[in-house]
Amino acid sequence: MSIRRQRAIREVGEPSIRGCLYNVLYTVIFCAVGIGAAILLMRDVTTSEWLSILPTFLVANLVEYGIHRWPMHRNIGPMAFMLKLHMVHHNYFDENEFSVATFEDYEMVVFPPFVLNMLSLAVTLPLAGIAYLVAGMNVAMIFIATVMGYYLLMQLLHVFAHIPKGHLVHRIPGVDYIRNHHCIHHDHSEMANANFNFIIPISDWLFGTSRTEGRNRSALAHADPKLERDVLS
Ligand SMILES: [Zn+2]
Ligand SMILES: [Zn+2]
Repeated sequence: MSIRRQRAIREVGEPSIRGCLYNVLYTVIFCAVGIGAAILLMRDVTTSEWLSILPTFLVANLVEYGIHRWPMHRNIGPMAFMLKLHMVHHNYFDENEFSVATFEDYEMVVFPPFVLNMLSLAVTLPLAGIAYLVAGMNVAMIFIATVMGYYLLMQLLHVFAHIPKGHLVHRIPGVDYIRNHHCIHHDHSEMANANFNFIIPISDWLFGTSRTEGRNRSALAHADPKLERDVLS
């Protein structure tokens, strides 16, 4: 076990089946209830209201990028706890041990419940309130459902990224690209500079932080086989 992984365990304790199930079930149930409630509150949704999914997806992509790039990778005063918590994830899964090995390891991948609580209360609800005032109930509910769906998809793709290379789920179109993208982000020499999106890396492309090659040879052992061949040969 790497020194970094041992340090991550020292900081938050060994992951457990109970902790893993708690994180996973809380995330799935919270998001499913949020999406279901929002859909139930929609009435006679028009085509233009459905189209609000697109800007909402882009805002979610920017927020995901911004939170990951800055508070989760920079020491920003009152938000320093986010950096500390995220470094546990990066130390647990570094360029040498990028994949989950046991069921308990998923506890170190799926974000803990308080992240979802904070995101819902401090970001999603206030923005949904603004959407309600500007465009009405349907758009506000579409906003909530899209954000919850985005969060759930983000967690799912993050899990897929940390599953050992070559797994069946990586045959789903686009999943291996995201796995490779995230693997490079886990290289300690790249993590503060590149590949901050978890889903489609739109904001990474926009801000010029998308990389398809890592600098570290160990990280490339988990990355795309073609890159591995090119760099290691
Ligand atoms: Zn990760
Ligand atoms: Zn990170």
